[in-house]
Amino acid sequence: MTAALPAVQTADGLDELAGLVADGDVLVLSGAGLSTDSGIPDYRGATGSLRRHTPMTWQTFRRDPRGRHRYWARSYVGWPQMAAARPNAGHSAVARLQRAGLLAGVVTQNVDGLHQAAGARDVVELHGGLDRTVCLACGDVARRDELHRRLRAANPAFGPRADEVNPDGDAELPDEVLDGFVMVGCTACGDGPLKPDVVFFGETVPRDRVGTCFRMLEESAGLLVLGSSLTVMSGYRFVLRAAELGIPVAVVNLGPTRGDAKVDVKVDAPLGEVLPELARRCGA
Ligand SMILES: [Zn+2]
Repeated sequence: MTAALPAVQTADGLDELAGLVADGDVLVLSGAGLSTDSGIPDYRGATGSLRRHTPMTWQTFRRDPRGRHRYWARSYVGWPQMAAARPNAGHSAVARLQRAGLLAGVVTQNVDGLHQAAGARDVVELHGGLDRTVCLACGDVARRDELHRRLRAANPAFGPRADEVNPDGDAELPDEVLDGFVMVGCTACGDGPLKPDVVFFGETVPRDRVGTCFRMLEESAGLLVLGSSLTVMSGYRFVLRAAELGIPVAVVNLGPTRGDAKVDVKVDAPLGEVLPELARRCGA
């Protein structure tokens, strides 16, 4: 119908990928590369190296009140951009594949909520979600947008704009600016310190959450990794487990991944082009 075929239609591996997904029961595991088209930078980059400052670790967040304070100041500045991010064509394609009954489940390493915003259901957030906070004293889980409202009230004059935000909601600001930020505490227990309900670097993914994902993998007919260089073990172990179980693994990622030697199908092309084409070929 249209004049020229998009280049993606001839991408290496696309036929094999479509064959695998069309057979159904595929478990999706998505990473930061799926959300870059939504304006959330993949700060590990295609080479798996950190491009900017090292992200907050659980050790620093837990033990260093000043580090925690600075985290929240940066995160406060970055939140409006995170909250405004919208799902892209890749997220929409995954939701269509799910609605077509082809997926065994959707597991994501992303904390941005964009799979759900695109209409995907029962998404397992391996690393938690930025739309919630958890109190380190009483365990109360609360809405992040409610915290933001309270922080705006407590910081009427704190308004530097960050022009870059990385995937855990961090923004770049000098320390002397950050130290002027006023943080608030948990409302359920009085003043407990708050943490975004996400798994930080150096923190362990809760065991029951991993167990749930592994059971989903064991019952699936294939693993489809989307936009992850598989640098961190929390994602890579799914590829290792699938290989042990003899479950075929497909990867769609722009650039090499740690799992390339172990995967059955690799498509190295932009996700925003590959996934809509994949959904189309699968009738989704
Ligand atoms: Zn509390």
